[in-house]
Amino acid sequence: MTIIDGKATAAQIKAEIAAEVEQIVSNGGKRPHLAAVLVGHDGGSETYVRNKVLACEACGFRSSLIRFEDDVTEDELLACVGRLNADADVDGFIVQLPLPRHISEQKVIEAIDYRKDVDGFHPVNVGRMAIGLPCYISATPKGILELLKRYRIETAGKKCVVLGRSNIVGKPMAQLMMQKQYGDATVTVCHSRTQGLAEECRSADILIAAIGRPGFVTADMVKEGATVIDVGTTRVPDASRKSGFRLAGDVDFEAVAPRCAAITPVPGGVGPMTICMLMLNTLAAGKREYYE
Ligand code: NAP
Repeated sequence: MTIIDGKATAAQIKAEIAAEVEQIVSNGGKRPHLAAVLVGHDGGSETYVRNKVLACEACGFRSSLIRFEDDVTEDELLACVGRLNADADVDGFIVQLPLPRHISEQKVIEAIDYRKDVDGFHPVNVGRMAIGLPCYISATPKGILELLKRYRIETAGKKCVVLGRSNIVGKPMAQLMMQKQYGDATVTVCHSRTQGLAEECRSADILIAAIGRPGFVTADMVKEGATVIDVGTTRVPDASRKSGFRLAGDVDFEAVAPRCAAITPVPGGVGPMTICMLMLNTLAAGKREYYE
């Protein structure tokens, strides 16, 4: 059984990106610049954005952080998006989600110039991804594809089951696993209304769990020799930790791992790859790889 090490893979990819950036800069090119917009003081969002800024440093990117308080108006936030769209030095930017309830996330996402939408959430990028055109692919599914590729896990013709159908993980993951140039697999998507879910899971050669229910996938739901990718990262209270919580995956790792050919741990599996793929998208933005 192979434990898929997302932390080590992400570190390696960041080193590859940093080397490429130094090459670009030494050839007179521009250092890629990622901007992040953070609204309020949610602990999770603060951590994600801090880690994104640190990852930028590791990759040799320029980064900018723009902060607003919780009471920022939608118009003020949209004006900020407009400024970032127009700023020629900013190659790509993200608006950290979730946003306060009085702001429409969809409106903000659609206001971002799709050519700078390194999160890959804009409908233009989602649509292009769905029909297999070059575009920014959202970071979590992109990171999972990269792990499968780097660990040489055969996906073509395999049966893949995706648990969850969110716009940021389940749906794009299923799209990508189905497409010829990516997973080339036979894909089933399960959600809260799926009947016979355990049986569906048992049929999977590759099982990707993204539902946010700690320990939901048990050993009896996994085929012997399957590859299991655990996207779940739920904070569960843990008094023994300084933070007061630990991250729990959707898979009962201890029980499931012995049945698997390969499995991602939580933490240290999919999580570190997500930020790393945002860096790869920013590098692509700096190189104008997908759009002029
Ligand atoms: P989400 O928007 O809450 O979607 C959850 C999906 O799971 C929904 O489609 C829901 O079905 C389905 N679901 C929930 N309970 C279920 C059950 N008992 N049986 C079957 N399906 C069920 O979540 P998300 O944003 O996709 O995130 C999922 C998990 O991944 C969370 O733990 C999140 O923290 C984690 N995550 C991790 C990363 C990373 O970088 N590692 C990135 C993003 C998300 P319905 O559609 O029917 O409601």
